[in-house]
Amino acid sequence: MWNIAGRTFLRSASGRTKWGNCMKKSCCICEKETLTKNEIGLTKKLLDKNAKRFYCIDCLAMYLEVDPEILLSKIEEFKEQGCTLF
Ligand SMILES: [Zn+2]
Repeated sequence: MWNIAGRTFLRSASGRTKWGNCMKKSCCICEKETLTKNEIGLTKKLLDKNAKRFYCIDCLAMYLEVDPEILLSKIEEFKEQGCTLF
């Protein structure tokens, strides 16, 4: 369970939920649909905590012009800081 822009969403039992168009959790560049919590968390952390468009690791790395491995190590760093987005 986590909170997005004041609204609370519950993870479905199947682990996959259709959120409707505006909150669809798929990469807005390559349209990969199975974004991980890390990818969603990273988009929020690095771009906008109220983000409605999300990026997979590869597209986010391209967008930010960094190496995907840097983003993966950032995720670990944020986790160690106890960030609730991951
Ligand atoms: Zn992508």
